[in-house]
This record gives sequence, C-alpha cells and structure tokens, in this order.
Amino acid sequence: MQHAIELDALRTEVGAAAGPMANAVSACVHCGFCLPACPTYIELGEEMDSPRGRIVLMKEVLEGGLSLEEALGHIDPCLGCMSCVTACPSGVEYGELLMPFRELAEGGRNRSWLDRFWRGLMLDTLASPSRLRRMLRAQQVLAPRIHRATIEVLTRSGVEVVVPSEESCCGSLAFHAGDASRARAAAGSLLRVLGPAGLLPDVDAVLTNAAGCGSGLREYGLLFAGRPEEEKARALAAKVRDVSTFLCALDAPAPPPLAQPLRVVYHDACHLAHAQRERTAPRRLLAQVRGVTLIEPRDWQICCGSAGIYNLEEPELAARLGRRKAETLLEGEPDVIATGNIGCLTQIESHLRRLGRAVPVRHTMEILASAHGASYPAPAR
Ligand code: SF4
Ligand code: SF4
Repeated sequence: MQHAIELDALRTEVGAAAGPMANAVSACVHCGFCLPACPTYIELGEEMDSPRGRIVLMKEVLEGGLSLEEALGHIDPCLGCMSCVTACPSGVEYGELLMPFRELAEGGRNRSWLDRFWRGLMLDTLASPSRLRRMLRAQQVLAPRIHRATIEVLTRSGVEVVVPSEESCCGSLAFHAGDASRARAAAGSLLRVLGPAGLLPDVDAVLTNAAGCGSGLREYGLLFAGRPEEEKARALAAKVRDVSTFLCALDAPAPPPLAQPLRVVYHDACHLAHAQRERTAPRRLLAQVRGVTLIEPRDWQICCGSAGIYNLEEPELAARLGRRKAETLLEGEPDVIATGNIGCLTQIESHLRRLGRAVPVRHTMEILASAHGASYPAPAR
C-alpha cells in the first residue's frame, strides 16, 4: 500500500524540501526489498528499525499522528548509509526524506544545554583538521597523509592541482547529523572560497578524497533548497567528483608494477557506493596496478558503523557493525584493506586492533601513490 502526504501542510514546516520528502513517502510500495540491505534491521531485527518502517514513522510524525519522541528511538539509529537506496527497485530517495526530517527533528527535540554543547563541540572538532590535530597531539592525524598521496597521484596523472589556501569545512558532517544550520554556516564559508565568485570558474572539477564530504557537497542543492544561495550551491555541487571517479575518467597510464604482489580487499564506503553510486572507479584504479590482486568482500553493501558521529552517539550498534565489518574483510586474507573514506578507515583499523589483527588499512590514493614510488609512514597502532 502506497502513502501520500499532504503537501501544503508539509511546506509550512520544511519549505522547499516538502516536495522531495513527499515523493520519497509516496514512491515507497512497501515491498521490503531494502530490509536485508539495512544494517540496523540486520542487527536489531525490528520493522521499525528498517527503511520501510522509518518511512512510515516519519510520515506519521509529519502528519501529526505520532510524537517525535516516539519515532526518534528508531530514526536516530539510522546510519544514513543509503544502502536502502541502492537496494530499492522503486527508486525511493530515502535521503531526501531523512535529511530534512533530521533537521526538523533537531529543532523539535529536547536536548539539554550540555548535550547541545558537547554535540556542537564534537561536530566542530571533527570537522576541523587543525582542532583535531591539537586534540590528538601524540597520535598521527591521517588526513595530511591521505591528502599528500592524493596530490601525488593526481600530479603524476598530469592534473594541475589547486589547493585552497583557507582551511574550510564543507559542513557535511553536521548535515548528516541533522544540524543543518551548522552545516549551512560552514558551507556558506566554503561557497565564498570555492563558489562561482571564487575558484569555481577556473577549475574543471572540485575533487574530494573523503566519501562523506563528497556526498554532502553533492547534496548542497538539498541543503540550500529554497534559499538565496541555492543556485551557487548547485553550481558547486555540479562540479564535485570523488577523486577516484575523476582519475578513472582521465584514463591516465597505470603506475609501474609493484615490487611485491599485494592482496587488496576493497571496502565500499557507503557515502561513495550508495550515496554517490560509485563502485567501479576505485576498483578499476586498483586492479590496473600490476601485482595487485583485488578481493571482493562478502556483504559489501553493509556499513562499517562509522557514519560521522554515529560512533559517538550510538556506540553499541557502531561497535557491532565495526566488528562485523572487520571480520568479513579479513575473510579474504588481505595484505592490505583499501577504502575511500577516512571515517571508514579509522573505524576498521580500530576494530582490527581489537581483534588483534595488524592488517594495514589505506586510502585507495595511498596504495596508488605507493605504486608510483611514494613512501608514507605507517599509521600509529
Ligand atoms: S525497497 Fe523501496 S519501495 Fe520497497 S519497502 Fe524499501 S524503500 Fe519501500
Ligand atoms: S540509511 Fe542505512 S541504516 Fe538508514 S534505513 Fe537506509 S539502510 Fe537502514
């Protein structure tokens, strides 16, 4: 049975997001094909913790038939991984319902001032490399290593790389956590640097090496829907590419063969595989390195439990998913695990450590850079 939702009433609450939200609700035919693809349904086994169940819950809240508090116990554990979108044969754009709903819910929920303070601090710290570096003084921050590798690979492939001089966060972490006003503040600063009045007209593409940021940037139209910045935001979003997508389309010559054969298992980051629908490019890039044997893991579509600040807000479920993912990736006896997202990388590393297995986890660009002859320090263990 399909559901429709009253559009005018919804518009008063969520403005321009009302249309996409209503479309997602009415497109769902309740077939249940998405259930086995949903990590929280697999772990918890409850209809209300499945995509289909959550669509009904969100609709009920939007129509006033259910209180927000009653629904949030099932909506909050949603990872926003979009595995359900990949699995759905009816083309339900679940993210276009979830993201505005989370924004609405954030305004309506009762958080203590302390909870709001810590949440804000977490989002600001994780989104800022310099703050994170200060917080983790003694430990290695991974981002510079991945950035160096990315620039190395692009340069060797004949790409002129322009790195913006200002450090600015894209706001994706906050957007995916439901804090859309914090996300818009960050995105506004980025638009000034990278938007149509900044670097945008001079570049062919805006590249990201973090799947979460890439998917968030490509959702700028949704983030700014109905606002004055929408056009600029859409112009930026249209040029955003994951670095693997861009490199694969370039068809640049493969790096030299590896000195030693390497068994690589590739972990699909949800925000690349599901949200950006890119599974082929990273695999092609890795497979073209002579000496690499690419191994396909079981349950590729299931999230590792990292999902932005999910690890901090839903630690038990995140830990269950992290352990499950580490175990399935180890099944292929890899020498190295590759992925395209820093959040997945740290989550998988941490669970491998707990299992006592010292298999290195690397960004796809690090493996390509190594093949090109660059050397990088081993991550801290
Ligand atoms: S697969 Fe799509 S149409 Fe079917 S229940 Fe899930 S979201 Fe609805
Ligand atoms: S986004 Fe992920 S966790 Fe949320 S309903 Fe869809 S598959 Fe399940």
